[in-house]
Amino acid sequence: MTSPTAQPTDLSHVQPRDKAEILAQALPYIRRYHGKTMVIKYGGNAMTDPALQQAFAEDVVLLKLVGINPVVVHGGGPQIETLLQRLGKKGHFIQGMRVTDAETMEVVEWVLAGEVQQDIVGLINQAGGKAVGLTGRDGAMIRAQKLQLSDQQDPNVKHDVGQVGDIVSIDPSVVKALQDDQFIPVVSPIGFGEKNESYNINADVVAAKLATVLQAEKLLMLTNIRGVLDKAGQLLTELTPRRIDELCEDGTISGGMIPKIAGALDAAKSGVNAVHIIDGRVPHALLLEVLGDQPFGTMIKSH
Ligand code: ADP
Ligand code: MG
Repeated sequence: MTSPTAQPTDLSHVQPRDKAEILAQALPYIRRYHGKTMVIKYGGNAMTDPALQQAFAEDVVLLKLVGINPVVVHGGGPQIETLLQRLGKKGHFIQGMRVTDAETMEVVEWVLAGEVQQDIVGLINQAGGKAVGLTGRDGAMIRAQKLQLSDQQDPNVKHDVGQVGDIVSIDPSVVKALQDDQFIPVVSPIGFGEKNESYNINADVVAAKLATVLQAEKLLMLTNIRGVLDKAGQLLTELTPRRIDELCEDGTISGGMIPKIAGALDAAKSGVNAVHIIDGRVPHALLLEVLGDQPFGTMIKSH
């Protein structure tokens, strides 16, 4: 993969014959994935560029039209940060989790379910698809409870991160019903508790669990970096559970990559066939991964 660029590639010099050849080469992948579900985590950080957003929406629609069932789970870190700043509040993270007091939770819900989700729904619809936005409340999908966050170094130490949720269960029936009717579900990572209280759940964690309960063929996590990098900044194309442990222990994996890699590994171990962390800054990253014949990003292995 060359360096990321948001500019669409100029294909005017490509001969129609070659274009047909390229399309034909996608056939084995289309056949393999027809009727399968793919959960796509669309990172808050990978979705701030309008040209990239449009390419993403086009890819999602194309996948749907060739008979694959994409389910989008979105984040919204940068967008939440912007609104918090406007309100004079500063975001604070512990081990990649946003500390969420009641006021922050309100902002999180506005931004995720109001702004970001509806932006994505609009973009997919404009690209010719039929997207439906959902939070974890819709169809009683995501039950959650307060997260007990153990310290990475000392598991006896617990961190209070406020209304950050841990998933209790996911009922995917609303997603399945929409899929069967040709809709593309777009899920905001908000769960509800026993007293109907809201929880802010890391979008990677939701995407991973949703992929598991849907028995998805693939989980694709689009992010704002080439994949998982080693200490020297080199891309790691494949990761085993053992290597992941090492990288977490020595601090090579930190911040937002912690919940991402944990979710990815959970999904891989729970039967999701292929789990990839890929560079959402590359135009048409989704198509490249699904229908292309060259691996890119980091593949997470179950053993
Ligand atoms: P997203 O919006 O995609 O969830 P995050 O900021 O939450 O993005 O997580 C991705 C970030 O994780 C990267 O931009 C990078 O700063 C950080 N990160 C920490 N450790 C690593 C690592 N070993 N390899 C790659 N990225 C890492
Ligand atoms: Mg993140």
